[in-house]
Amino acid sequence: MGLLNALDNPINADGIILGKVEDLFNWGRAKSNWFLQFGLACCAIEFMAVNASHFDLMRFGNIPRSSPRQADYIVISGTVTLKMAERIKILFEQIPEPRYAISMGSCANSGGPYWQHGYNVLKGIDRVIPIDVYIPGCPPRPEAFEQAVLKLQEKISMEEIFKKRERVAQEDKMLESMLKAEENNFIENVNKHI
Ligand code: SF4
Repeated sequence: MGLLNALDNPINADGIILGKVEDLFNWGRAKSNWFLQFGLACCAIEFMAVNASHFDLMRFGNIPRSSPRQADYIVISGTVTLKMAERIKILFEQIPEPRYAISMGSCANSGGPYWQHGYNVLKGIDRVIPIDVYIPGCPPRPEAFEQAVLKLQEKISMEEIFKKRERVAQEDKMLESMLKAEENNFIENVNKHI
């Protein structure tokens, strides 16, 4: 990653590295992603394999956590029934911001083999929670999961933490003025009909 490569740069001599605080934060966040221990169906077996010694997910800085309150992301690995969708939403919302989600396999992406006749299956987890990385396949190979982890790291390392706060503040202001305008319109309409 950039931080370690910078040590080889002769301009940044004597261990001094010039950079943005935002990059440093993002580097730390991207390389220490903790995930919630959670699995749903057959895809979860592949997810377990990624965590075993052969694929060694921890070398990417991904550590399993038993509580959503200590996790950074959740992996939706398997068929999502309508009954389970509600629980997944609760678990996702218990992860502190900024939080992320990976959708693993066709079932989680779109309902998979249950698309047409699975009356009890949700047709895509993104109908319930926002997804950052989708992994295709039925089931996807562990290597595909590792690729998704790298994609998530890439996404996190490019995030604009400080500008995001400004943007959210601007969006809040816009929303407030829109609600105010809507309220005024409503009062005007009511007054017209009195
Ligand atoms: S995508 Fe395939 S392997 Fe994964 S949960 Fe669905 S049916 Fe099972």
